[in-house]
Amino acid sequence: MKLMKVTKNTKQMKVRIRNYPSFMTLKYIKDLSNVLWVERETRRDNRESMNHVLALWQGEPPATLSFPGMRPCKVERYVGKPTFCGNCQKWGHRVWQCDGKTKCGFCAGNHDSKLCWKKIDNGDEVTLRCSI
Ligand SMILES: [Zn+2]
Ligand SMILES: [Zn+2]
Repeated sequence: MKLMKVTKNTKQMKVRIRNYPSFMTLKYIKDLSNVLWVERETRRDNRESMNHVLALWQGEPPATLSFPGMRPCKVERYVGKPTFCGNCQKWGHRVWQCDGKTKCGFCAGNHDSKLCWKKIDNGDEVTLRCSI
């Protein structure tokens, strides 16, 4: 594995290491120089997911990881449920927690997205603008 220089700007991302045997110690993962933090993914309702490991990875994660005596484990980006606000079109909170201004998701105007949605539905032209 390539080692990379750690700088302040090196990006970090959460990854899921799939099918890491539950009898294996997490030490192998912890010892990787790119790993800042690691934990087993535990879900009460799904026993199989117990074999996955979540890690905070510094830099670009590889597609697979190989450990001695094991089949390579797939590494995927871990994406939790995104929280998106349909009122102000920002990430990080929900509509009912919003104290921002109402913004249209289509034209970025100061009105509810439904207004433009109706226009589009009627076949009217709407200038799409990125509201985020
Ligand atoms: Zn909001
Ligand atoms: Zn609009």
